[in-house]
Amino acid sequence: MRNLVAGNWKSNKLMGEALEWMNGMGPWLAQNHGVRVMAAVPAPYLAVCAEKAPEGLEVLAQNVSAEGFGAHTGEFTAEMLKSCGVAGALVGHSERRARFSDTDAAVAAKVDALLDAGLVVVFCCGETLQERESGRAEDVVLQQLQSGVLRLGAERMDRVVVAYEPVWAIGTGKTATSGQAQEMHACIRKWLDEAFGAEVAQRVPLLYGGSCKASNAAELFSQTDIDGGLIGGASLDPHDFQGVLEGHPGLNR
Ligand code: PEP
Repeated sequence: MRNLVAGNWKSNKLMGEALEWMNGMGPWLAQNHGVRVMAAVPAPYLAVCAEKAPEGLEVLAQNVSAEGFGAHTGEFTAEMLKSCGVAGALVGHSERRARFSDTDAAVAAKVDALLDAGLVVVFCCGETLQERESGRAEDVVLQQLQSGVLRLGAERMDRVVVAYEPVWAIGTGKTATSGQAQEMHACIRKWLDEAFGAEVAQRVPLLYGGSCKASNAAELFSQTDIDGGLIGGASLDPHDFQGVLEGHPGLNR
């Protein structure tokens, strides 16, 4: 299913609040279908959240190590995530690219580690304001995708989700217009088509992320190549997150 909305809590919430959120989503998820719903929660809560998640909610990590088992203090592997019932992980989020040394090569290794473990990859890409203003937005996103996704075998694409998140729109309250977002999503769909063929390209969910909230979700999600969203701030409160989900045209109530 291409319809997908994922929350990204980043480094927010205490354990009790994480469980309250899970409980707050349960009744809504029981009554609403047609959109795959995920939440990327902080690492300490992964196992408990995966166990307590209501039916219809998949739990994601916000990161993963590309190293296997061994002497890598502080790291956690894709196999560990899998053993905790976690569905997959975000990789290449701009906050990690900018501040935690997630280079294109490091991100690519994390993609491989997740796919080797049979987990879902939510691959984040996007340009900075300076890159957009200098006319390089498409080149930057294409380069990130080439290194992380377009090099994969087509048979591995079933568990890959691409999230286009212009860096200038993340957490800034400044959303890309639906036209700007659709334009980049159409490019991404075309690059997927060139790399893997139309059948694969039509199956890969393309999410928009960057100050998406209840008031602008319906307009963004109505675009041909926008299949859903990756939602930061507006995913922290279940009510706000449900408002975003309710903007999805694929929702059956
Ligand atoms: C994000 O962190 O991926 C994000 C899109 O954040 P926000 O919705 O807060 O801009």
